[in-house]
Amino acid sequence: MSASGRTATVVGSGPNGLAAALVLAEAGVSVTVVEAEDSPGGGVRSGELMHRGVIHDLCSAAHPLAQVSPFLRDPRFGPSLRHRGLRFAPAPLDMVHIVSDDRAAVRSAALHTSPAVTGEQLPGGDGRVWEASFGALSARADLIADEFLGPVLHLPRHPLLLAGFGAGAALPASWSWCRWRSEEARALFAGIAAHAFTPLHLPASSAPGTLLTVAGHRHGWPVVVGGSRRIADTMVEELQHRGGTTVTGSRVTDLSQVADADIVLLDTSVDAAAGILGDRLPGRTARAWSRFRHGPAVAKIDYVLDGDIPWTAPDARCAGTVHLGGRAEEVAAAEKQCWAGTLPDRPFTLVGQQYLADPSRSRTTGGRTLNPLWAYSHVPAGWDGDTRDTFELVTAQIERAAPGFRDCVVDWVASPPSAVEEHNANYVGGDISGGANDLLQLVARPRLSPDPYSTGVPGVYLCSSSAAPGGGVHFMCGVRAAQRALRDLGDL
Ligand SMILES: Cc1cc2nc3c(=O)[nH]c(=O)nc-3n(C[C@H](O)[C@H](O)[C@H](O)COP(=O)(O)OP(=O)(O)OC[C@H]3O[C@@H](n4cnc5c(N)ncnc54)[C@H](O)[C@@H]3O)c2cc1C
Repeated sequence: MSASGRTATVVGSGPNGLAAALVLAEAGVSVTVVEAEDSPGGGVRSGELMHRGVIHDLCSAAHPLAQVSPFLRDPRFGPSLRHRGLRFAPAPLDMVHIVSDDRAAVRSAALHTSPAVTGEQLPGGDGRVWEASFGALSARADLIADEFLGPVLHLPRHPLLLAGFGAGAALPASWSWCRWRSEEARALFAGIAAHAFTPLHLPASSAPGTLLTVAGHRHGWPVVVGGSRRIADTMVEELQHRGGTTVTGSRVTDLSQVADADIVLLDTSVDAAAGILGDRLPGRTARAWSRFRHGPAVAKIDYVLDGDIPWTAPDARCAGTVHLGGRAEEVAAAEKQCWAGTLPDRPFTLVGQQYLADPSRSRTTGGRTLNPLWAYSHVPAGWDGDTRDTFELVTAQIERAAPGFRDCVVDWVASPPSAVEEHNANYVGGDISGGANDLLQLVARPRLSPDPYSTGVPGVYLCSSSAAPGGGVHFMCGVRAAQRALRDLGDL
């Protein structure tokens, strides 16, 4: 049976939902995307939150995963999105990790796109070890992404590469960093590994960090010119060009609302998908999904700043992303506390200075430059702090590394976990990864199956980051789910 002439509804317009829609449209399927919120994009939205002309990324900010993604490298999709104006821009420095904010001895370590340049600033022999660890892998980062941005259970296309990358990725991050002697190198890797929101002593807690590191060494950690929303805008335009439609402001709560489509792809959380499918869900899927767990949360702030952050560490002043977490052991301790449900005194905090890569997001008025600043701290799932608590928590972390920061703040909007979820139902309890990233859920996401996208309900698929390969703006949950659906239509 040909896909051409068939219809599909994609529920949810995050990067995975929109990628699924484009893959289906490319195959000749007539696609409608239905989005609950008033604007499309899910985790790729941006806007003027407080001041005209000052543009904030509401969710995702740095895009090493988008850059390395097979979807954007696919000649059927990448060039047309670029033609519609999707452009990435690097900051002068990709990322800086503040190892010590002690004013008498500030120490930091930077992630440069080049592994060799990253290595040069690391003390002792750690530079050579850094380059040996990531140099060869980063040269093959695109192949690694082809292999790993999908279900873990699969027949490897590049078995040697799988062995090379997998051997390191399978380790706890706290074992991986033992290859370096300096606190700088160890902390640099620990901070990247902490993007997975898992305790760093758990098996495979090196995997997401290793992928982010090699992707960064291949393509940098750039931002999107004009804001991450340009990813959604260009995808929606391209879908329209291919005959598809996007409907906003319409929440799907039951399959009957979209039952006239031949296939349905759900870019939703597992919980929402279970609600939409109700009694139609086969017992084996329902049981597996009921065991699906969410991870820790974020408490996020968008600031408007008068000028720049007065970082004590000079390299932080030109970094697109700044990690505040201290030594590797301190990062690990904070992540472990969040996982266990306790708010750390010094939570791991990320700061995004996208305007350094994309000055079009700032506005100069009355002789001063208003810059957007993006930051969030890792907090336990469902942490019940309010907006003021969120402001104090995140601001205190930045203030330690940049005394005087508070004086630069002109305005702010804080989003504790409840507001993060209110803004996007997929971020259950404030978990922005679509589910916990422990070993079990890296392998069995959302359940143990070589076909994790099938729900067991004929013609209905899960395509969000709750399915393999998980969180981040890489589009591949959507691509793989759409490919699965097309195979079922007998078209691949
Ligand atoms: C604060 C924050 C910072 C982040 N930073 C980064 C970063 O720098 N880099 C990076 O790569 N990733 C980052 N992420 C993660 C990234 O945004 C997500 O992993 C990614 O967006 C997941 O894509 P998705 O398509 O699976 O779901 P989402 O992007 O969450 O989109 C799901 C969409 O479905 C809609 N929806 C849900 N339920 C329904 C329903 N029942 N009916 C209709 N519509 C529905 C939602 O409204 C939403 O629009 C960040 C996320 C957040 C929140």
